[in-house]
Amino acid sequence: MPLEIVTIPCLSDNYAFLAHDPVSGETALIDAPEAAPILAALESRGWQLSHALLTHHHPDHVDGLFDILAKHPARVIGAKADEHRLPELDQAVAEGDTFYIGGDLVEVLDVSGHTIGHIAFHMPETGAAFTGDSLMALGCGRLFEGKPAQMWASLGKLAALPDETIVCSGHEYTQSNAKFALTIDPDNAALQDRVADINRARAAGEPTVPSVLALEKATNPFLRAADPAIQAHLGMENADPTSVFAEIRARKDRF
Ligand code: ZN
Ligand code: FE
Repeated sequence: MPLEIVTIPCLSDNYAFLAHDPVSGETALIDAPEAAPILAALESRGWQLSHALLTHHHPDHVDGLFDILAKHPARVIGAKADEHRLPELDQAVAEGDTFYIGGDLVEVLDVSGHTIGHIAFHMPETGAAFTGDSLMALGCGRLFEGKPAQMWASLGKLAALPDETIVCSGHEYTQSNAKFALTIDPDNAALQDRVADINRARAAGEPTVPSVLALEKATNPFLRAADPAIQAHLGMENADPTSVFAEIRARKDRF
């Protein structure tokens, strides 16, 4: 049975998520940018946290955890590779590890690139992936620690998930990502349609996260480095997709 997903805006442009199993009552938090909105979301639903899942160590993903745990003593799960720089973990996980939230399986993917040790959580029965600052709506995280080849491989793992997967990413960067995406893939009709939807949603104050993986695959330039139209637009016909991805990421850093 799928878990109920709640999106919680935090700080200026972060998102945290709750994944709640109505049968067992177990509730997982994914990332903890700040305590107040997360505590309010739990309280308004009468939910008690059972798990806290961390995608990576950056302050805007963990700083709220301490105050949340004071009221919700949950099991903290994060990357074994980052144990030294994450809040204290109850369970250290690596790629291929699995665990359960209520009756639903959670699979751990290593999606290093933004940081080394960044993980994503895939819930196949719920059809959701919590990607933090790896795959984002129309974007991907900046490469603070990893190399382009590593991020390209990480994005490939996420792109291989089922098309209908809901991508729960860590930031509302979509509108600025959209402006950039149009410079890379200007003739993509699906992208043009999506940008119109994004502009409408943001004008109405609505979030653009989560998104659907099939739409990311059709419109997100960071997943489309092997696309002939993008390669031609960049003057990189038949180039290795890793080097095309590196070029797209470098252009975004200058954008
Ligand atoms: Zn980050
Ligand atoms: Fe972040």
